[in-house]
This record gives sequence, C-alpha cells and structure tokens, in this order.
Amino acid sequence: MNKKSEEKIRLRFAPSPTGSFHIGSARAALFNYLYAQKEKGVLVLRIEDTDRERSKKIYEEDIMRSLSWLGMTWEEGVFEDEERGDYGPYRQSERGDIYKRYLMKMIEEERAYYCFCSKEKLEKEREESEKNKIAHKYSGTCRNLPIKEQDKRIRDGERYVIRLRLPENEIIKFDDRIRGSVSFSSGELGGDFVIGKENFFPLYNFACVVDDYEMKITHVIRGEDHISNTPKQIAIQQALGIEIPEYAHLPLILGNDKSKLSKRHGSVSLFEYKEKGYLPEALINFISFLGWNPGGEREIYSKEEIIEKFSFSRCQKSGAVFNIDKLTSINGYYIRNMELEKLTEIVVPYLISEKLITKKGEGEYYAPQRDEDINFRKIKDIISLYQERIKLLSEVPLLTDYFFIKKLDYDPKLLLWKEASPEDTIRQLQNCISLVESIKRWDLETIKEGLIREADKNDNKGVFLWPARVALSGKKASAGPFEIIWVMGPEMTIERLRMAIESLKGIK
Ligand code: GLU
Repeated sequence: MNKKSEEKIRLRFAPSPTGSFHIGSARAALFNYLYAQKEKGVLVLRIEDTDRERSKKIYEEDIMRSLSWLGMTWEEGVFEDEERGDYGPYRQSERGDIYKRYLMKMIEEERAYYCFCSKEKLEKEREESEKNKIAHKYSGTCRNLPIKEQDKRIRDGERYVIRLRLPENEIIKFDDRIRGSVSFSSGELGGDFVIGKENFFPLYNFACVVDDYEMKITHVIRGEDHISNTPKQIAIQQALGIEIPEYAHLPLILGNDKSKLSKRHGSVSLFEYKEKGYLPEALINFISFLGWNPGGEREIYSKEEIIEKFSFSRCQKSGAVFNIDKLTSINGYYIRNMELEKLTEIVVPYLISEKLITKKGEGEYYAPQRDEDINFRKIKDIISLYQERIKLLSEVPLLTDYFFIKKLDYDPKLLLWKEASPEDTIRQLQNCISLVESIKRWDLETIKEGLIREADKNDNKGVFLWPARVALSGKKASAGPFEIIWVMGPEMTIERLRMAIESLKGIK
C-alpha cells in the first residue's frame, strides 16, 4: 500500500458565509458528505470568511441549520456553539497568523515577492493586452527588484501586494477524479498572480491551500466554477513544497433551458424549499442526482443506498440539469410513502401559518373560523384524504381549508350537475341529508354503500354525487364525497348540505 491509500480520507466543506445557503452549496456539501460516509472518512466544516465585509454570522448559522435540516453530519470544524478538532481554528478570519507565517516563508524563500505596481499601471497593461488581443499577463515589473529596494519602499510606506513567482512555461496538470486529466499552462494563470495583500493578508487561493494542507485534507470536492482556481492552488502547493490533494470538480448546475442556474429557476435559498414543503429526504435524493447517478431508470434512492452506491466514476462531466418538476415529483413520492402520523405532524405548521388552526395543547387544536376544537386525530383523517396527491406540503391548506371554515365561499351554480336545475339539485341534496341522517354505523364502507345506492337511482351517478361533493368542499375538485363525509361526520355534513340548499334557493 502506498502512503496515500493508508491515510484517513479527510474532506472539507468550505462555504463562504456571504449569502443564503442555496442548492449549489447543498450539492457541494452533499457530495463531500456522501464520499466521507462511504469511505468512513472525516468531514470538516470550515468557514471561509476572509471577506469580512460580506461575511455575516446569520449566513454561517444558515449554513449549519441547512446542513442539519438535510441530515448531513460532519465530524470536525465549526459547530453551533463550539469548534471541534485538532486543526483549528476553523474560521479563516481567525487564522491570520498562520497565513502570515506561510506568506513570510514564501517571501524569504523568494518564491513570492512584493509588487508595488499601481492600479493605474496595471490597468494600462491590461488595456494594452486587450488592444493587442493577447491573453493578459502581469508584466513582471517587480519580479526582480533587489531585496534592499523592496525593504526601502515598504519602509517608505508604498502600497504593495504579494505575488507568487510562477515558473515560466510550465504545464500544471492534475488528475481530476471526475474530469480526468486537466492541464493548464502557467501562462494561462495571468502571470505571477497575487496571493497576499498588505499586512500579509492572504487572498482566497492562498488561504485555501494553507488550510487544506494544515487540516490534512486528502480530497477537495467542489463545483466546477472553482476549476480555474485549481492550477493556481497547485502552483502555490508546488511553491510551498507540500502535497497536492486529490481534486474532483462537480459539473455546473444548469436550469431547464441549459443556462446557468440562477434565481430565475425558482427559489434558490434552501429554506425557501423547506417553506414550500419539500422534504429533506426528497432533496437529498434529488441533489445527489445533480451530477451523479447509479445507472438504470430508478430515481428513488434513500440516503443509505446513495452512500453505498456512490463513486466518482458514476459522476458526470457535463452540466447537471436542475428540473424542479422532477424534484416535486420525487417529493410527492416521499410524501405518499410517509407515515400518516409523521406527515400530519409536519403539515400542522402549514395549517397554523394559514390561520386555519391554532394550537391549544398537546394534540389539541382550535379552528377559529369554525369556533370549534379539533384534535390531532381528526386532522390526521383530513390529511389522509390527500396523502396520495400532495406533492408539496404547502399545498395542504388550500386543499383542505373547507374542513376548517364555517361558511364556504363558492358560486352556487357550481352545485349544478351539467343541465340539472336548481330544484332538482335541491332534491338530490335533501335526499343526501336524509341518507346521512339514517346512517347508523359511521364507517366509510357503510357511507359509500348508502350513497352509491342513492346515486344509482339516477341515470348518472353525478346527478347525486356532484352536488353533494361541491356542497361539502365548495370546490370543483377535491377528495371524493364518501371520504369527505366520513371525515366530516354527520353534523358538519348536514350543515354543509343545508347551506348549499339555501344558496340554491336564490338562483333561478
Ligand atoms: N469558499 C468557497 C466557496 O464558497 C469554497 C471553495 C472550495 O471549496 O475550495 O465557493
């Protein structure tokens, strides 16, 4: 066994807390998580908050809350109230001394140098390259300044940056675990690029390299948008003489129209998905397929199955299309297959936020619009009518509101089945009332039998069943009349049928 295969796999998820946690961040985190789980490695959460202005504590919290909600765990790094692990601190903002030490070493070894070129001068150089249509490259003005002069200019208070001394005409090559062999010429990196600013403040690529090395990261898994950073990071690793980790760049996430995923493609923050009523299981399943698939037609995989099957060889290079309809349909699958009890528990907050119910006590609720108590069991029965068709939890209030409202607001004409007259319809509804009053055993079978017997007295069952169902739900489409009656109970059913009769009396 070589040294590499003996060492423990260590991965990191290294988000910048500069915006809300979105699908792209979740995908990067998830692939690191899957590989860490598969290889029984360690996943580190490192917070890349060097951009002090844009980094916010709330975003950091959002990252951790989102990961936890999705059920992704990590072993080391930043946690809510503490840091865990031997290679901290795990926030870049607290690692200034470490970067400084490395930057100073680079200067001392002349692998990096101070550059005093002004912004204006650099801008001119850039414009010149543009004019001549050549790839821009720093001219190297300060590359060979004598140390004495460097020191003097710093003492004189001149502004500077720190640049890496890049070997010329070198090919930087790496074996990407997903993309295969990738190579860049050092010329493509824009010449001696900047790695640090005044006071030995590191730039992103430098800090990232130092951290990956210090934290003993063996594999860097991240989005393809970072692939142009990789040759720069490798150039820094080579200059520092440190080991180069393995890299795997995940394909870009594209919208349905194959353009880069943006806000146009629907809600982007992960919590917007949560609010809409997507389940973490569905998101994990769906996001895993954004760049990976185990082969075959099957689309539903549990997290455990995905971990078991995960491999880089089944990751794709080409863009991963984000199809929200697919996510919604996977969500529907998980909802259909969820325990009714659990589904009801997670749906209750949606009913509360739409003011259909309020919480009174354990398992006890109140429907203010009916001025009636309602218990968890009843809510569960209501949800059971819709479990098969719910795709998003947020659909539930609109589908079921008629159970929680006193007076329904619908056009009485909706009660009329095809050509049926109001008088006919009133008669059908009256029959329905008599029937409901006569039911002795309140179970679904009995209700169904009774109603079908009554409906069969007509040429078409709809003449009887349609107005009954509309009277109960006030909707064009809803659950079936038998089920609704069964869940509503005789009192509320009769109340609704009577209201419908009254409303029909007003139309000609
Ligand atoms: N902080 C970088 C980001 O949020 C992560 C880069 C990396 O994974 O190397 O995009």
